[in-house]
Amino acid sequence: MQYVSTRAAASAASSSSQQFSDILLGGLAVDGGLFLPSAYPQVTGAELDAWRQLSYADLAFEILRKFATDIPEADLRALTAKTYTKEVYKNARKGEKAGQITPLRVLEEGDNGTKLVLQALSNGPTLAFKDMAMQLLGNLFEYTLAKQDAQLNIFGATSGDTGSAAEYAMRGKKGIRVFMLSPHKKMSAFQTAQMFSLQDPNIFNIAIEGVFDDAQDMVKAVSNDLPFKAKQKIGTVNSINWARVVAQVVYYFRGYLSATTSNDQKVSFTVPSGNFGNICAGHIARMMGLPIDKLVAATNENDVLDEFFRTGVYRVRKSAETYHTSSPSMDISKASNFERFIYDLVGRDGDRTRALFQKVESHGGFDLSGKPGSDGDEFKLVAKYGFKSGKSTHEDRLNTIRDVADDYGIVIDTHTADGIKVARENLEPGVTMIVLETALAAKFNETILDALGEDAERPEGFENIEDLPQKFVVMPPDVEKMKAYIAANTGL
Ligand SMILES: *Cc1c(COP(=O)(O)O)cnc(C)c1O
Repeated sequence: MQYVSTRAAASAASSSSQQFSDILLGGLAVDGGLFLPSAYPQVTGAELDAWRQLSYADLAFEILRKFATDIPEADLRALTAKTYTKEVYKNARKGEKAGQITPLRVLEEGDNGTKLVLQALSNGPTLAFKDMAMQLLGNLFEYTLAKQDAQLNIFGATSGDTGSAAEYAMRGKKGIRVFMLSPHKKMSAFQTAQMFSLQDPNIFNIAIEGVFDDAQDMVKAVSNDLPFKAKQKIGTVNSINWARVVAQVVYYFRGYLSATTSNDQKVSFTVPSGNFGNICAGHIARMMGLPIDKLVAATNENDVLDEFFRTGVYRVRKSAETYHTSSPSMDISKASNFERFIYDLVGRDGDRTRALFQKVESHGGFDLSGKPGSDGDEFKLVAKYGFKSGKSTHEDRLNTIRDVADDYGIVIDTHTADGIKVARENLEPGVTMIVLETALAAKFNETILDALGEDAERPEGFENIEDLPQKFVVMPPDVEKMKAYIAANTGL
């Protein structure tokens, strides 16, 4: 399996292609594009039938081996078996089987043949779906680094979910250190406790005196110092990482296969979306031949994606136009994985994709509506890829959390509430609608309290997390001090 950049010139595509392990530890391609397989591996009906019975770990192996052809199969099988266990994904709700890893729960069957189902993706160590991919990434990194006798220092900024998922995936891993910046005293008490209570010597929590953007700017400044970056072996685990996307493909297959008894049955997915990483995995599953009917992107007030799927206009927002919402993990100004879908939409034309995303840099967006003066008319092809969208606001979120608690007796988090709100607008007779549950409610308790007047239930083991001893340092947003801190702790 060869990988190409979404911005590769037609003439360069074959000569610059790389294998899975080559792109595993990297970020963007050198031309600024994102990596994708040169062609999507296909899945037959017979394979789907055979996969219906598999455990999650075995299913993950079957799918990954189509993408990671340069990793010996026995090694890959050991990695997926180690990652997807009921001990790691133990935070299942009452009535869910932890061993299923991503159990389904039917919420409602309508008289007119509609069906609304929730797929739990947040039973991992940090109670958000990012564990699904990050846990595998931790094991893949450790495996690859050991082979190369190399080390990696992960450096990033977080406002919550990504940082904790990365730390829980990398803690105690040989050859890996994590330096995670967060805005001092700006995360929720729960999120802070989750990260800062880790005592592992390879985890470095750095609270920056400032807001998230200050922390993010520090990461950019340090990463732009290429000699420093090379000497200190700095890498990232952000949402454009290809292995993260691939790991997420697996649960679309699991969801489809668990919800159906034959491959003629129709299933759609609604996905609470921010950076388009999660739903991009659904697109890839569909391109591989999984019979997904619709892929519905649910956004919050930051509706960059909803606007595109309604109008064909992609317009990124300035940071002053980005709202801080009660589904904060979807507060994005642009969708960093969107380029992967656009590449397919424009017929896998790297020159075209490069021009469109250069226009995003220079003019803040592009227009594929086909109207006079637009940049193209490919918006008319969007339906062919199954995409739809919708938007949810703070008020919708509160109402949905209340409705779901009243109607189905479970408490959902704010991001999942955005998903359910939009899913309900897109139900169709004869089609099962699966909503991906991207976090558990305990993580966003402040809003749950507003909606229901009572605290969200905490999974076992999280009861007193705020009382555990915390390990972190506080630093001003000073790039030189940061570099000195990193160098002192890597010993490089
Ligand atoms: C990251 C995240 C999202 C958004 O996922 P994308 O892959 O960025 O679209 C949604 N919900 C929660 C809880 C998240 O942590």
